[in-house]
Amino acid sequence: MGTAPLIVVSGPSGVGKSTVVSAALAGDPGVWLSVSATTRLPREGEIDGVNYFFVSPERFEGMVQSGEFLEWAEFAGNRYGTPRGPVQERRAAGTPVILEIELQGARQVRRSDPTARLVFLAPPSWEILEARLTGRGTESEEAVAARLEAAREELAAQGEFDDVVVNADVQESAQALLDFLHG
Ligand code: 5GP
Repeated sequence: MGTAPLIVVSGPSGVGKSTVVSAALAGDPGVWLSVSATTRLPREGEIDGVNYFFVSPERFEGMVQSGEFLEWAEFAGNRYGTPRGPVQERRAAGTPVILEIELQGARQVRRSDPTARLVFLAPPSWEILEARLTGRGTESEEAVAARLEAAREELAAQGEFDDVVVNADVQESAQALLDFLHG
């Protein structure tokens, strides 16, 4: 028996990755979303172990050193990584896995696992992305600026992905993800 599929969902901060992935999970509860570790502080309403494992920079570094991450990256001043063990266990048990990660992480997965399917979620326009990121109100002005700078780089790299989905409609984007997952 082969392992279950791995789908990487990437795209600029503010494009709506979390919303689309949540809708996909609601449409297919048999899929598992990996929970990343991060050194970022929790936003209001975020729960440790659910949205992320919120860890100290020291703990994160320890995880890097002991090879616990499938991939990890620094993004807008914080570090983020995918714990390797749970992803391997789920896939070996036949459960398809989704990773919601940024560009550098997606590139690492591509190198380490050529069977992974990389999906880029793109905004309908730059103006819409900017408005979403600014209007979200969860980050400082400085953090928003760092995310917009990263977004330019990410948008320029969308040609590296297997699929590009323009996120104009959450349900349609979620369905596109499920279609990739199922074949
Ligand atoms: P946020 O701080 O908005 O939750 O996440 C910032 C960026 O980091 C987003 O693009 C998000 O998808 C990405 N990210 C979240 N978890 C991981 C991870 O484990 N690895 C990588 N490379 N990026 C991640």
